[in-house]
Parts: sequence; C-alpha cells; structure tokens
Amino acid sequence: MAVDIPYRRDFAFEYGRLEPVAPGIRRIVARNPGPFTFKGTGTYVVGEGAVAVIDPGPELAEHINALLASLAGERVTHILVTHTHRDHSPAAKALKEATGAPTHGFGPHAGGRRGEPGIEEGGDWDFVPDVVVRDGEWLEGEGWRVEAVHTPGHTSNHLCFALPDPGILFSGDHVMGWSTSVIAPPDGDMTAYMASLEKLLDRPDAVYWPTHGPAITAPHAHVRAFVAHRREREAGILECLGAGAERIDAIVATLYVGLEPGLRRAAARSVHAHLLDLVGRGIAESDGPATIDAHYRRARS
Ligand SMILES: [Zn+2]
Repeated sequence: MAVDIPYRRDFAFEYGRLEPVAPGIRRIVARNPGPFTFKGTGTYVVGEGAVAVIDPGPELAEHINALLASLAGERVTHILVTHTHRDHSPAAKALKEATGAPTHGFGPHAGGRRGEPGIEEGGDWDFVPDVVVRDGEWLEGEGWRVEAVHTPGHTSNHLCFALPDPGILFSGDHVMGWSTSVIAPPDGDMTAYMASLEKLLDRPDAVYWPTHGPAITAPHAHVRAFVAHRREREAGILECLGAGAERIDAIVATLYVGLEPGLRRAAARSVHAHLLDLVGRGIAESDGPATIDAHYRRARS
C-alpha cells in the first residue's frame, strides 16, 4: 500500500505582485516555474515599514525589480536565506546592493564542486552570508522576531525560520506542500533529512509556508506522511537488494515505473541517498566506497 501524501497544489497568485498571505506577511512569486520549483520561487516579506525578506530568489531582473518597486517607501533591514540553491539565494546580492541590508544564512554552499551538474536549480556558490545564523538563534526586527531552525537534509545549510506569533514556519525546501524534497548526495543527506523531519514534529508551528507553492495547514500530518513515504521507499530498496539487484539503476527501474527520462538522474540520486543512510545504519553494504556506481547488498547480520 502506497503512502498517501496529502499534497497541496491549489496556489492562487499573480507573478510580480507582492500580495498579503497572512497578517504581517506578504509574498511575491518569481517567474521561474519548473519541475523542481512548481510555479516559481515565493519570496516572503515579514513585517511592515521595516521588513525582512526571506529567500530573495533567482537572479531574475523582473523579479528583483518588482520586489524593490513593491517595497518602495519601506526599509529592508534583514535578508534571510533558507539555503544556497540558485532559485533561492542569488537575488540576495542585488537586494543587498539596493537596500544595504545584511544577508543572513547558515553558511556558504557545501558539498560537491562548483560547476558540477547539480540537481534542482543547482548550487549558488557565490552566496556568503554577512551574518552566520545557527540553530535556535533569534533574529529581531521592528515588530517581528524569528527563530532559526537548522534543518539539514535537502542541503546541509538549510534553515527554516519560525515566527512564533502566530505560529508560522517558513519551511524553505525542507517541507513543501506540492512535492517531496529532493535529497541528493553529496550535500543532500537522507539521515540528516529524516532527523530534520522528526525535529519539526517536536515543534508547535501551526502553519508552514514553503518557498514553493501554498501553505501547509496541517503540518504534522504532512511531515508524518513524508516520513512514512521515505520508510516505504527504503523498504522497497531493501526488497530490491534482497532480490539480487545490486546497482542503483536496476533499483530505479524497479521502483520508479513510468518515470519521465528527465527525472531518472534525480531518482538515482535519491536512491543513492537512501543507500548511504542504510550503509550508515549498518543495514546495507557496498563493494568499496558507497558511490552512485557501487554494487550494494544487504548487510550480513
Ligand atoms: Zn533547494
């Protein structure tokens, strides 16, 4: 029985318009729709008059100009970045130049190498936060305060930002309503991702606002479905190994029936992430280093 994920894809918005989505929160969506971005990057503005901008978005002049024009007469005091993918952080540079506001994030992009074909929109190797933010730290502006919640997994430097009053979590790409998150090694880490899902289950946040797509209004049920979905995928991988499939491409062919060819590489990297997790837990083993081309089997217990 496949796990039923309560996906949310009803998304009302207009490109280039900064629109109120909740009291004290506005959002403008960039015109960068795609297989990993849904309708595009949702840039959030927290506060009024003196504001924080969360995930400025891709380097897209139309988006940056629309954001700046919408904030004319207001002051940007903080630029917050959930993680360093090219659909999230590159516009921080132009926004900082225009406003003088410092950028905040966990750290620069990690894992892999510059120029390597990335997954999703790829890594933003140029972003270096002015202010390094760690788990549990509070950031304060005029009329708002947010807590940084380190949620590694999708990337090692992924942060969610919690606004305790009224119980909102800006969940970045860690938890989205429209899709599962891409977990692709080397920077993506399944062990860390699962722990970061459990971490959210211990928190009281009532509504999640991801960077792509609509809000998640029953977040714990949603997170639990993602946990179950990954456990189900893991069970499928172990079954493949038990049946003698040793290579990731064979496992992908068995588990992802009818997959679009363009998504095969992403699927292979996701299976690889699971195998690294299983090797780390002593449940699977590989011949030599646990690379994407290695041969895998169930560990002899
Ligand atoms: Zn991302």
